[in-house]
Amino acid sequence: PAREVSGNIKFEHVNFTYQDTGIKALQDVSFDIKAGQFVAIIGRTGSGKSTLANLMMRMYDTDSGQISIDGNPLKNVNLNSFRDQVGFVPQEVFLFSDNIKNNIAFGLDEVTDLEIENAARNAAVYHNIMDFELKFDTMLGERGITLSGGQKQRVSIARALIKEPKILIFDDCLSAVDTKTEEEILNNLGNVMKGKTSILIAHRISTIKKADKILVLEEGRIAEQGTHDEL
Ligand code: ATP
Repeated sequence: PAREVSGNIKFEHVNFTYQDTGIKALQDVSFDIKAGQFVAIIGRTGSGKSTLANLMMRMYDTDSGQISIDGNPLKNVNLNSFRDQVGFVPQEVFLFSDNIKNNIAFGLDEVTDLEIENAARNAAVYHNIMDFELKFDTMLGERGITLSGGQKQRVSIARALIKEPKILIFDDCLSAVDTKTEEEILNNLGNVMKGKTSILIAHRISTIKKADKILVLEEGRIAEQGTHDEL
C-alpha cells in the first residue's frame, strides 16, 4: 500500500539550473511548510515560482540541497504514490477531448456523480456547467465546446480537489478568473483546505492575506518570508 503523506514540506539550500539554458532558476532556497499550512508564493514573472512548484512535484531533481516530505528526501519517495496524494493545478491547463465529467474525474477509478458535482461547486464552475445543455456530459475540445480561460482553470481546480489530496499546489491558476469568482473559490477552499497543505502561487494581494506564510521570490532567491502582517 502507498505510504500516506502528512504534508510537511521542507526545502534546504535548494539550487536548481535548467540544463538546456543554463538558467539558475533557484538559488539557495530554504523554507519549511508544516502539514496543514496555507502558503502563498509571490514574485515577479521569471522569479522561479513555477520552478519551485515543479520541483515539489519532482518534475526535476535539484542540483544540490534537499527537498523532503515528512522528513523523507523527496528523491526516495515513491513518485506515483506521492503524486497521487498531491492535487496539482499547473499554470498551463490541460483538458482532454472528452466530456466535462471525465475531465474532472481524470485518473480516478471510482467516483460518484455527487463527488464530481461537489468538486465543481468548490471550484465555482458548477453553475457554468449546468448552463450547458448537456451539463456534465458536455464534450470539450475539438468535437465539443471551447471553455473560457477562467472556466478551464476552474475545471482543472475541480480535477485537483476531487482527489481529496493531502497537498494542494495551485500554480497561478486563478489568473483568468475575475476577483469576485476568485473570492468565491478561496472561500470554498477555506473549507476544502482544512487539514491539507496548500501552496498557492498568486499575484493579487487579496489572494494571499489569509496565508500562514508568504514566500517572496526574487530572481530565484527567497527575498522575504513571513505572514502578510509581518511583510
Ligand atoms: P511566471 O510568473 O512568469 O510564471 P515564474 O516566477 O513562475 O514566472 P519560472 O517559470 O519558474 O518563473 O522561471 C524561472 C526562470 O527559469 C526564468 O528565467 C525562465 O526563463 C526559466 N525557465 C523556466 N522554465 C524553463 C524551462 N523549461 N527550460 C529552461 N528555462 C526555464
